[in-house]
Order: sequence, then C-alpha cells, then structure tokens
Amino acid sequence: MWTLVVNCGSSSLKFALLNPATGETPLTGLAERLGSDLAAVRVDRREKRGTVPLPQGSYPEAFGVLLAELDALGLRQEVRAVGHRVVHGGDRFNAPVRITPEVLEVIRTCIPLAPLHNPANLAGIEAALAAFPELPQVAVFDTAFHQSMPPVAYRYAVPTAWYTQYGVRRYGFHGISHAYVAEEAARLLARDLTDLSLVTAHLGNGCSVTAVQGGRSLDTSMGLTPLEGLVMGTRSGDVDPGLPDYLAQEAGLTLAEITAALNRESGLLGLSGLTNDMRELEAAAAGGNTNAQLALESFVYRLAKTIAGMATVLGRLDALVFTGGIGENSATVRAATLARLGLLGFQLNAAANAQAVRGQGGVITSGGVPALVVNTNEERMIARETARAVKGAPA
Ligand code: ADP
Repeated sequence: MWTLVVNCGSSSLKFALLNPATGETPLTGLAERLGSDLAAVRVDRREKRGTVPLPQGSYPEAFGVLLAELDALGLRQEVRAVGHRVVHGGDRFNAPVRITPEVLEVIRTCIPLAPLHNPANLAGIEAALAAFPELPQVAVFDTAFHQSMPPVAYRYAVPTAWYTQYGVRRYGFHGISHAYVAEEAARLLARDLTDLSLVTAHLGNGCSVTAVQGGRSLDTSMGLTPLEGLVMGTRSGDVDPGLPDYLAQEAGLTLAEITAALNRESGLLGLSGLTNDMRELEAAAAGGNTNAQLALESFVYRLAKTIAGMATVLGRLDALVFTGGIGENSATVRAATLARLGLLGFQLNAAANAQAVRGQGGVITSGGVPALVVNTNEERMIARETARAVKGAPA
C-alpha cells in the first residue's frame, strides 16, 4: 500500500511516496519558491534525479509534476491514501483524522495560532483534494501528540479567561518527530513503549524536549507558539515576559519588531553574531571565537536544564533520545549535554558517540541510563499514521 505524504510550507511543498510498513520510498520531491519566477521542483525518483522549472507555479502545478512522476513510476493507480502534515490542530485533535469539510473548517479556525503554517497546509490539502479526489486524505498534526499533557503542564498561570476565550495554553510542537523517535527508541532498546519513561530531544533549527511516558507526551518545552523553551537556531526560547514592554520603551521597537527579532535574529545566531548553523558554530568555537563558544554553551546549558526538568516530570528516566539535525550529528553537543547531566547517571561512550553521525544511530552510553541517537523520519511517521487512520475509519 503506497501512501503519499505532503508537507507544505509558506512557499514550498515537500512530498514523498512511501510504503508505511517497510519505509521504502521510491519518490521524494521538494517544490520551492512557489508563486515566483524561480519556482522549481526538485525530484528524486529511484535512479533519476532532476529539477523541473515551474515559473509562477503554485501548489496545483507542483501537484501536476508529482502526478507525472507517479505516472513515470507506474504507481499513480497504486496510491491508497494521502497524508498531510498540519502544524496546528489547537485542542481539537489528539490524533490524525480523515479530512472532511468539518475538519478543514477546524484547521481554518486554528490559523490565528499558526498564521504562517496553517494557511500553507490548507493550500496543500486543497491541491491534493483536486488532484486525488477519490483517495482518503488524512491530516497529521504536529500538536496532536501533546494533547495528552495534563492541565498542570499545559496551563499558563495567567487569567483563566485568556485560556477559555482565546485558547492561551501550551500546545507543543514537533509531535510527529517526538512520537516517531519514542517508538523507534523502544524498538532499539527491545522494550515495550508502554513501559518506558523517555525524554526525547528534537534538535534541529527549531528545538524541543518532551517527556514521554508509555508513549504519551506528559510535557514539552514549546508552548502556545514554537518560540518557547530551548535556545534554537534563530529563536530565543524562554525570555522574561517583561522583555517586550521594556524594549518597546527603551528601544522604541514595536511589538511586531520585537517578536520578529525573537523568532529570526535570536538563539544561536543572536548570541554568536555569526550563524544559526551548528556546524559553523562548532568550527568557530573550536577556532577560539568566544561568542561562538558562549552560544554553544548556552544551547547546551538550557538543553541540560530542560532535560533534567523533564526527568522530574517523569519521576523515572529509562532513556534519553537525541534526534533532529543537531541531535543526530553533533557529537559535541551530545557529549557536553550528558556531561552536565551527571546527576541523572549517564556514562558517555565516547567512541559510540563519535560514530553516531550521518544517519548512524544507536546507544551512546556505556552504563547508567542509556542515551541514544535515533534518526527522525517525519514522512514515515505521517505515512504510518495515515495508514492507521485509514484502516481505523470507514470511508
Ligand atoms: P530543520 O529543523 O530545519 O529540519 P535540521 O533538523 O536539518 O533542521 O537541523 C539543522 C541543524 O542541524 C543545523 O543547525 C545544522 O548545522 C545541524 N547539523 C547538521 N549536520 C551537523 C553536523 N554534522 N554537526 C553539527 N550540526 C549539524
């Protein structure tokens, strides 16, 4: 059974054709700069790789390219379902759902919570519905995994009316990745996921840490928006809520300017003044750049503190999982993080840690609580969830 996975950004469309059971992926593609003269689709299909220019093309044209590729593979008629990544499902969805007009309406009502992402996700769904009207389509939400958080984790200590009237609460993100690596970690440890208490750290350009007990999220570091929590590539993570008012007064900045700077000019980039790219930062830090060293140390410091906090939430820690571009590749960040977490009983295996790069996962400790590297695969998780949702519900 082939499942098509669609992941839309504000001017991009990522797609993959997958077998959810085996993970086989004969086709992947990325359409970028949609709506501009430079729009193009990069396609990777079995032995063939190439770029199809698509000037002024938007989501429907990108779908045209995708259909042609499916035809070239002879698999268009074999696609059984389409799975869509949707960033924000508010508190309405705690699991993937078959897309209906009512579901589309709820995704629309969540636009104020994810103004950049949900409109793009809807555009992708509409294009897919037009291209594959006969197929079941499923929405898989980044927020759904965290709907199992208890109120003590998701409520902010703010006026209750903000929560009841405006949905001001913590939602959490990266749920597809946290759920996937938790499942894979259980497999790697040969343990039953329902018996495991895990902390999962997704460290990419965006970063979040989740406490996962029995396969359910108990707490996570991102909140109402993906700005809360850890130091990230260009996002500040936690700051004093009094900061915007102070800066508005002192620097004459508007709220929009402050929010933009907290999202795009902060984090590793803000602290280092150099880059948001961990590879470049590690090289600069090793070369003696003190700003790069501070950025790296701050990243690790906040990460270790947050992991320890999540261990407290769980009460018992069976394993720590690293994933995302940094988690999967940076032996430096992993070693420095474990070194700060001696309290939790990690014993780093330096050789195993050094080897866990570029797609090579596995356990990186030699005793105590295991820490492991698991390569995330959000496309595969979306395909799995889509297959489950299609099986679970009548057409
Ligand atoms: P996104 O969140 O956009 O999907 P990724 O998960 O690909 O991003 O993570 C990107 C981050 O991973 C960047 O900071 C990048 O520098 C980092 N990264 C990738 N490879 C390495 C590496 N070998 N060593 C250190 N960091 C790496």
